Amino acid sequence: MPELVFFSGTMDCGKSTLALQIEHNRSARGLAGMIFTRDDRAGEGKLSSRLGLVTDAVEVEDGQDLYVYLVDHLSQGGRADYVIADEAQFLAPEQIDQLARVVDDLGLDVFAFGITTDFRSKLFPGSQRLVELADRIEVLQVEALCWCGARATHNARTIDGEMVVEGAQVVVGDVNQSAGEVGYEVLCRRHHRRRMTAASARAAALSPDVLPVPSS
Ligand SMILES: [Zn+2]
Repeated sequence: MPELVFFSGTMDCGKSTLALQIEHNRSARGLAGMIFTRDDRAGEGKLSSRLGLVTDAVEVEDGQDLYVYLVDHLSQGGRADYVIADEAQFLAPEQIDQLARVVDDLGLDVFAFGITTDFRSKLFPGSQRLVELADRIEVLQVEALCWCGARATHNARTIDGEMVVEGAQVVVGDVNQSAGEVGYEVLCRRHHRRRMTAASARAAALSPDVLPVPSS
């Protein structure tokens, strides 16, 4: 039975690397994939992983019907044996419904990869719809780590290393960003709640002023 599978996790947990691995394994067996992505760090129409691998992909646009796109592709003689949707958190909920229809009506496996929650620890609409519709949800086990060494489960948005909690849900950036730019850092829940990034933890360790003064 074809399936809609949602591979979820934090940033930096190896989602795109796994997407490329699935693509590699299936194309090595002679299968052809339709690869969708949106706002990949490598630029439009690319699916890339932090490990340096990259492949061409279809850049999804606002309002685009992914089901119709596949039907058109197939009816024009194109091949698609399975579908990969990377950065699926950036897709609209309706586009996730269209991917479910690709599974049910076209009989293709759809592998969606996405970050579950945004920098305020709220579900992205696309990820929410995937949780609602997926046949199977796989939480990726390549664990990203917080600066404290604990398992990182939350995405923090940073500017100059300081965590920010205001702003638009989607601002494309990356981990290890330069000064003044929006960056992202994965944290454990404890440090996400305390808004303590690696940089602010370092600063706190250097400043004796922030140590709690025991009351007598
Ligand atoms: Zn931590």
